[in-house]
Amino acid sequence: MIDRLRKDLINLMRIPGLSGHEDRVRHAIADLLMAEGVESRSDRMGNLITTFEGEANGPSVMLFTHMDQLGFIVRKIEDNGLIRVERLGGVPERALASQAVTLCVGTGKDVDGVLYNKSHHATAPDEKYQVLKAGDVLIDTGHGSRDEVEAAGVRIGTPGVYRPNVLPLAENRIAGTSVDDRAGCAVLLEVARRLKSRENGPTVHLVFSVQEEFNLRGAVVAAQSLKPDMAIQVDLMLATDTPEMADRGDMLLGGGPGISLYSFHGRGTLNGVIPHPSLVRLMEETAENESIPLQRSAQVGVLTDLSYVQLVGEGVASIDVGFPMRYSHSSLEVCDLNDLEALSRLLIAALQSIDAGFPLTRDGQA
Ligand SMILES: [Zn+2]
Repeated sequence: MIDRLRKDLINLMRIPGLSGHEDRVRHAIADLLMAEGVESRSDRMGNLITTFEGEANGPSVMLFTHMDQLGFIVRKIEDNGLIRVERLGGVPERALASQAVTLCVGTGKDVDGVLYNKSHHATAPDEKYQVLKAGDVLIDTGHGSRDEVEAAGVRIGTPGVYRPNVLPLAENRIAGTSVDDRAGCAVLLEVARRLKSRENGPTVHLVFSVQEEFNLRGAVVAAQSLKPDMAIQVDLMLATDTPEMADRGDMLLGGGPGISLYSFHGRGTLNGVIPHPSLVRLMEETAENESIPLQRSAQVGVLTDLSYVQLVGEGVASIDVGFPMRYSHSSLEVCDLNDLEALSRLLIAALQSIDAGFPLTRDGQA
């Protein structure tokens, strides 16, 4: 399984898919599903959905992960050909200067560029510890004028991403662009491979969602049409095993999959997820039965699209699960394939143990 996860993850990380511009990623995933004999469909927003029908009188599950990644949108092309951009999603200022970027104008025609960084020789002492302001970012594509940039296909509104990059590291670890959340996509592909040959179990909708990095609400559209009873969301868990993260928790890269017991995003959204107790129990018991170490996360400052999915209809019993990841939203994020494999096994086994009697009411939950 680990070799397949590596292959899928590497392939998917090489495909650009800015929020709202996920078409290439969606096509690639649909093709991978089709190669397994699994049909999928997409909705008007671009969510990719495949349904495995199961017990009619039991609860249905939406298991989802996002396809999109953060990046840039061209705001203005200067007369000299340098390009100004807006950020799309939480691109950190500290990860901007000197990055390679790809402006997506069409497969085979994409335009690479370099994010501006002031020449060091000309940097005054008081500038040395300042980060580039996002609004001041310039992309140099090598073209000498606006006309040449436009002739290459770049216009106001053209999407851009960190240039897709994959760097295999030691011990089954991988650095890459958009590990968040192509790793989740690779895990869901593993789940699909298992579900296609199962004999019983609940109805499961796998959803590869859109626009998570933009406004966290693409998956809501899928939930509104699928009306699931339960939702399980797969994304990164912030690894805390580097010095600057040490006091935020106890999430080790390579330490196994994790569940979130509490997430909250105070910066304006006032949203987060407190998981349904039955789903916490399901993950804990499954991990124990399968001898999978299960890590725990409880953090402010993180938020996933599950925050909105849980509020659909009469309420959707929800939980965030994930894999530890370092350096979130930087151009090279790091995950461990062993965690992805264990997460895939956890999800497959958890789904298999959901039956018609699965408790979703809060009565008797004390
Ligand atoms: Zn994510």
